[in-house]
Amino acid sequence: MLVFTHAECDGHVTPPGHPERVERLRAVEAGLEGLAVERRDCPPGDEAEVLRCHPAGYLARVKLAVPAEGWAQLDGDTFLAPGSHRAAMRAVGGICAAVDAVVAGEAGAAFVAARPPGHHAETAQAMGFCLYGTVAIGAKRALDHHGLARVAVVDFDVHHGNGTQDLLWDEARCLFASSHQRPLFPGTGAPEERGAHGQVLNLPLRAGSDGAAMRAAYERVILPALADWRPDLVLVSAGFDAHAADPLAGLAWQAEDFRWLAAGLWEAAGGRMVSALEGGYDLDALAASVAAYVGEMTRLSA
Ligand SMILES: [Zn+2]
Repeated sequence: MLVFTHAECDGHVTPPGHPERVERLRAVEAGLEGLAVERRDCPPGDEAEVLRCHPAGYLARVKLAVPAEGWAQLDGDTFLAPGSHRAAMRAVGGICAAVDAVVAGEAGAAFVAARPPGHHAETAQAMGFCLYGTVAIGAKRALDHHGLARVAVVDFDVHHGNGTQDLLWDEARCLFASSHQRPLFPGTGAPEERGAHGQVLNLPLRAGSDGAAMRAAYERVILPALADWRPDLVLVSAGFDAHAADPLAGLAWQAEDFRWLAAGLWEAAGGRMVSALEGGYDLDALAASVAAYVGEMTRLSA
């Protein structure tokens, strides 16, 4: 089990009171404590990888907006600090290095503990704390650089991965399957949203629904779809904000539910799986959930 992270991710400092904060990575570290994982640094991301998903004008706009001090605001809740672009590029570099390592057989599973998150970033629009579509960029790396025939992205963050869906809408080689609370930010993720090739699968969950409801829904819909897809690699948008203690949403999962998800997804992944941190805003719940999820993945991929 590989874990990719980088100190430059702490350069993405958000304004006081913002839930997507530097301390989240300290909570992730607390969750990883004692696990037998191999640590690697996220290399700096290559802009060419970003350009597989976002137009050059968008990348230029984000870089230009980076402030010399303080913050610049890109939307209602997405801020740039002086180190934000560098941090986001470490997230991009981390996912690409994780994909490379897993495709090369250096490990069966990898977890990218970087921030800012990525799954709300649309083609030319920063949104919901996200700048670049990290996991979609990883999927494109697997398809276009490594030449894999089929990949899948599973997004179990409590919010719909509207950005990933947007970036992969036309990508016939990639299944995108998302479970999320609905209605909730960002408002997308209806079952009728199926992608240009019917390869998008949205599974809304009702507010208040618990881990048992999640497990039933995954067993009924997402895990069979994943098995049918026979992906050469599974990427996971691993957001831990469906935890009952999370302040931004209203599902009622527990840390053990993330352990169950790790096992179910691992079985469907056929031995190659790359997960990347998305949400998770209660620090204790985040630490416990990461411990359960990465711990199970470490055990299974050993
Ligand atoms: Zn989220």
